[in-house]
Amino acid sequence: MTENRLRLTNNSKIAIIGGGPAGSFFASDAIREAKRLGIDIKITIFNSKDFSQRGPIGCNMSAAVIAGTLHAKLTRDGIILPESIIRQEIKGYYFHTEEHGIELYKPDQTSKSSIMAVYRGNGPLYSTHTKSHSFDDFLLQHVIKQGVTVISESVIEINLPSNRNDPVTVIYGKGGQHNSMEADLVVGAFGINSNMASKIEHLGFGYTPPKTIRTCQMEIPLDPAFIKSSFQDNIQVFALGIEPFRFASMVPKDNYVTVSLVGSRDLTSNDLIDFLNHPTVRKNLPHNWEMPEKFCMCLPKIVLLHAKNPFTDRLVLVGDTSISRIFKNGLESAYITSQLAVRASFEYGISKENFARHYYKPARKLLAMDNKLGAVILAISDFVTRQNWLVKARLSYVEDKRGSWIANHLNALLWNMVTGDAPYHTILIQALNPLFQMKLIPVTLKALVTDIIKRLFSQNYSK
Ligand SMILES: Cc1cc2nc3c(=O)[nH]c(=O)nc-3n(C[C@H](O)[C@H](O)[C@H](O)COP(=O)(O)OP(=O)(O)OC[C@H]3O[C@@H](n4cnc5c(N)ncnc54)[C@H](O)[C@@H]3O)c2cc1C
Repeated sequence: MTENRLRLTNNSKIAIIGGGPAGSFFASDAIREAKRLGIDIKITIFNSKDFSQRGPIGCNMSAAVIAGTLHAKLTRDGIILPESIIRQEIKGYYFHTEEHGIELYKPDQTSKSSIMAVYRGNGPLYSTHTKSHSFDDFLLQHVIKQGVTVISESVIEINLPSNRNDPVTVIYGKGGQHNSMEADLVVGAFGINSNMASKIEHLGFGYTPPKTIRTCQMEIPLDPAFIKSSFQDNIQVFALGIEPFRFASMVPKDNYVTVSLVGSRDLTSNDLIDFLNHPTVRKNLPHNWEMPEKFCMCLPKIVLLHAKNPFTDRLVLVGDTSISRIFKNGLESAYITSQLAVRASFEYGISKENFARHYYKPARKLLAMDNKLGAVILAISDFVTRQNWLVKARLSYVEDKRGSWIANHLNALLWNMVTGDAPYHTILIQALNPLFQMKLIPVTLKALVTDIIKRLFSQNYSK
């Protein structure tokens, strides 16, 4: 009897907190699943952001690159991105270190999935376009067309029932006005820039929110002709090997470039200025470029470590607030966790036992375990990129050998690192490939000797 009540049946109500990608992906998949099972369900999404606004206020702040792998999945699901949403189709990546750079190309040329650069909200603050540009709004409209109700108000709290057979109460509202709604299942898709996570933590069922760090982003308006010729449809990624930056990217978006910085500590706007003044970065901007007086910037959080126990009876969390791959394709993680949660809810039920077994366990296996390996690989990569002599020698060797096995291997390795197209365990296998390592030994030794001699000379000279 208890188990039967903890199942989604005809006329079940689902309340989704958050109308970002995770919320819309859950809704879209739930509608498909309900249709497949021949049951009627009612889905309501609560969303606190107005995606028609420009700048951070209407935007779920990110570099907004849709990985080729996710783009292919959306296309397969019938979610076709209209031209008005796509800011730029991305050809590949240009990988910059402090002294050297190399263009990366798609390792699997037969794959048709394109990488797309979009805006999450309605474009940068102070931009003057007329059409709606928001990817998140496009996803939300997609589910509205399929019968989902959207309430553009914040959820303030949720009350779990004392009897697991009773529904959950969702309290929402604007200003001082509060309303409530009962739901058979509540889905938390509120991301990591919301205070909802700490409220859920205080419900006391064992949820620990993800560990996060503050990043920094800016939208730079530039002449589209300059962006086209300078960026050549490539995302510029920087591994400068200097503190506090771990990763940095510049994503071309027609008449804007989105700069995204992730550091080893919470970043501030001063770090943004330091980054933009770095000589390697300046080369990607017009020679007379100056920081504009007014510009669009934000300091969003990014996940460092996934959440623990993102579920209980009648409540499941998806997207960033649950488990996502660190520093890679957060949007695709939102897609994956939402799909897993939908499968668990519809096929097995909405009890905590079912979420533990059929949602949390597979999500951890797919995403969280790989993150542990990712953390090790990223620490090694941070160390290597700080050894300028080594990076420069290896990249120029590989560039000289363009088209050879070793050049293709390094290209694939770096491509997977920057795009997240392959899991971290595949990246580790690629990095430890014995033939690859053996071929690089002579180059490494030569570079090491040259570096030692250089240092000795400069020490003698300074005496
Ligand atoms: C600097 C940076 C760059 C990134 N670049 C990329 C990239 O290029 N590609 C990529 O795939 N990923 C990227 N990511 C990660 C990506 O942004 C996230 O993984 C993704 O947004 C997670 O989606 P979500 O739906 O879980 O959360 P969010 O996108 O944060 O959406 C949460 C939604 O919930 C709503 N909400 C919050 N609280 C409430 C409430 N109480 N009531 C009602 N609604 C609420 C918000 O309004 C919002 O719409 C980047 C992240 C950062 C920080």
